[in-house]
Amino acid sequence: MNTEQRCRRCIIPKSAKEFKFSNDSCCELCLNQDLKKAPDGSNEKNIKLKIEDIKKTGKNRDYDCLVGLSGGRDSAYLLFTLVKKYNLRCMAAYHRTPFTPDVIDENVRKLTAALNVPLIQMDISNTKHRLFAKKIVNLWLESPKKVIASLACAPCKQHNHEVYKIAKKHKIGYIVFGGNKFENFQVGAAQDKKSKVDDYKEISQFQKIKQIIIVAKRGALIILQHPKLLLSFPLLFRSSILYLNNRTPYLRMRYSNIKMLDFYFIAGYDEKSVNEFLSEYNLKIPSNCNSSWRADCSFTELKNIMFSKTVGMTYNEAYLSNMVREGVITRAEALDRISTEGEISHERLKETCDILELSSEYFVNKKLTPFVRGKG
Ligand SMILES: [Zn+2]
Repeated sequence: MNTEQRCRRCIIPKSAKEFKFSNDSCCELCLNQDLKKAPDGSNEKNIKLKIEDIKKTGKNRDYDCLVGLSGGRDSAYLLFTLVKKYNLRCMAAYHRTPFTPDVIDENVRKLTAALNVPLIQMDISNTKHRLFAKKIVNLWLESPKKVIASLACAPCKQHNHEVYKIAKKHKIGYIVFGGNKFENFQVGAAQDKKSKVDDYKEISQFQKIKQIIIVAKRGALIILQHPKLLLSFPLLFRSSILYLNNRTPYLRMRYSNIKMLDFYFIAGYDEKSVNEFLSEYNLKIPSNCNSSWRADCSFTELKNIMFSKTVGMTYNEAYLSNMVREGVITRAEALDRISTEGEISHERLKETCDILELSSEYFVNKKLTPFVRGKG
């Protein structure tokens, strides 16, 4: 794709259906915000205050904090930083999903062993996860909408609850999450000018209840449009209302004595240091994976396709564009990366489809209709 077909400031392609572009090829996201400067390390003071608070909370306990580990580079680097740089006594909570590659599972074990961090498994059914993902992908094939593609990730929202359960069980007072801020500015969220992902303020009870009502309304609407989802109502309810993220009103109220920190929301993000760490600890990415981002989940490949077919852009393009807008990488770097990382790995796609017992042909074909539904 040549550069004229993309936003002139970030790399959102003009094929992105939901974005408006100005006459001089600027996407509405870039029009609505000034290009930011990269964080200059001044956040270090804020991080130090948080680390002090974690240590204070951990006093007289066996551990300072619990870290949710996906096996991906961000959470792995977080664990390393907390243990090695800040000398925190960490426990790691991990779940191997049906889409976690072997190499990633090995990374988790290798890293926790090297850092001498106990690894606790989350109690989540992989059979249910696989069947749910398959159901959503089938539904998307019938009705290719963005909202349906997003639902496929609902089972992993349970991790948000499991970490609190594990922290409570082991009497740990702090959970540190390694979510990547640039991932969170996703297509829908990024368009909502009122929502700020890095808004870190605690909200009032009234606002919490208001939020629940908004999400419940949205959920009810989706189920009304797609009655097949009714059978999955319990999981959808939990994933979209109770555990949608790590700070839902439900989780904050139920586990009010457990504090939490989204580390990278404050600390900023330096991909170069992350990559150096990966090679130092010999952490690998699956051989069929084009990008180290989201290497921990082979479903990403399918999700990228579902998004590009419904929204006209991939997750990867949204992610890199967010980084450009936040001043972390230049547009030229993003273009360079999209030319290699942006490629769909057909091998990985096939692996994912095999897990779901679906033919990858459905997703590779340019046109979705006429659609021939697979058995089972
Ligand atoms: Zn743009």
